[in-house]
Amino acid sequence: TLSQRLRAAVDRLRGRGRISEEDLRSTLREIRVALLEADVNFEVAKGFVQRVQEKALGKAVLESLTPAEQILTVVYEELVEMLGGEARQPVLKSEGNLWFMVGLQGSGKTTTSGKLALFYKSKGRRPLLVAADTQRPAAREQLRILGERIGVPVLEVADGEPPETTRARLRQHLTFDYRDLVIVDTAGRLQVDEALMEELYRLKVALGPSETFLVVDAMTGQEALSVSRAFEERIGVTGLVLTKLDGDARGGAALSARYVTGKPIYFAGVSEKLEGLEPFYPDRLAQRILGMGDLQTLLERAKQAELEAPQKDPKDITLEDLIAQMRQMRKMGSFSEILAMIPGLSRMLPPGFTVDEKQLRRMEAIVLSMTPKERRDPRILNASRRRRIAAGSGTSVQEVNRLIKTFEDTKQLLKTLAKQRGRGFFR
Ligand code: GDP
Ligand code: MG
Repeated sequence: TLSQRLRAAVDRLRGRGRISEEDLRSTLREIRVALLEADVNFEVAKGFVQRVQEKALGKAVLESLTPAEQILTVVYEELVEMLGGEARQPVLKSEGNLWFMVGLQGSGKTTTSGKLALFYKSKGRRPLLVAADTQRPAAREQLRILGERIGVPVLEVADGEPPETTRARLRQHLTFDYRDLVIVDTAGRLQVDEALMEELYRLKVALGPSETFLVVDAMTGQEALSVSRAFEERIGVTGLVLTKLDGDARGGAALSARYVTGKPIYFAGVSEKLEGLEPFYPDRLAQRILGMGDLQTLLERAKQAELEAPQKDPKDITLEDLIAQMRQMRKMGSFSEILAMIPGLSRMLPPGFTVDEKQLRRMEAIVLSMTPKERRDPRILNASRRRRIAAGSGTSVQEVNRLIKTFEDTKQLLKTLAKQRGRGFFR
């Protein structure tokens, strides 16, 4: 997957200390290949890598002690930027809102129309659905059934009805049944074709929508670029909806559609159900593309457990702090769960590192068998001291060694996190 490829590319730099310009270039090459393989369009991938390179050089990644983390940060920030930065909502006027839904057949237009109607109805709006897909006989019936389920009226366009007639019927409908948000579900083809575009354009002109949303299936690959371009050029698009984000979408379609239209992605479809519509969060998709786990979830849980970020400077942290920290983190959930949620963390700890209750008690015993001086400065722990501690705590020298190694790795990790915190990972 894209996230695995990107991670592999960055991992190759990890632990290397300083890197050369050639290292950076080859990493960027790998990132570009990873993007291409994830069906990100060639143009998009090229532009992306170029901007990452400029930013990386600007941030003096080459001089930094943690180049892999730095590059990952730049890639992440650039992805968020490309996906639109902040989450946005379409502007709704108090009346006269008409949203025109366009996209390929199967992209999710009809489902999304129903979802939007339900979403805004629950916010106190009075939506009306218009079934303007006369291509497939079942299409209007599909929308009619959705409308019935959510209690929203559906105006059906007749076969071969001229756009002007549709406009007149819509006006008439609105005079006897006032509606402040009209959502028009239109026809799509499996591929973009001239006749469809012409027909859509005529309907659009006749209805004069306030927004035209291009519905993009997140699972589509390379063709997302040409499809988005065709709709943008022929119809004109004001916003995007990304559907089927609940599948294992690779993110390429979102990047392509954004790149071509430059319009915001307002919503994400996350299930076949009518409730499956969410605001689109660029940072969340970027995290997912990078395989960074759901930081949001982690932060929320951290708040619940009232976990405070270590106040100390990482270099002053002692073994006692480590134990205290682990106890606190355990309140947040299983340790392996937490590890999976923190970017980079799982890779910095020794392989197979987990903490269960029993293990934690043994670690505590080891720390308690140390002298205060040893706890403050494990560097003085020579072989004979380690043997003494192992005997005193009823553990083995290997366990003592492992604890000290974990402590050192954690210290290193906290230093890295402290730096990242200043750069937006933990806002
Ligand atoms: P249209 O041809 O563009 O109108 O597409 P439809 O709305 O009929 O949707 C095509 C298929 O995609 C249907 O089986 C939908 O249930 C499914 N679908 C639409 N949106 C989503 C989504 O966000 N997640 C999932 N899993 N399926 C979706
Ligand atoms: Mg449809």
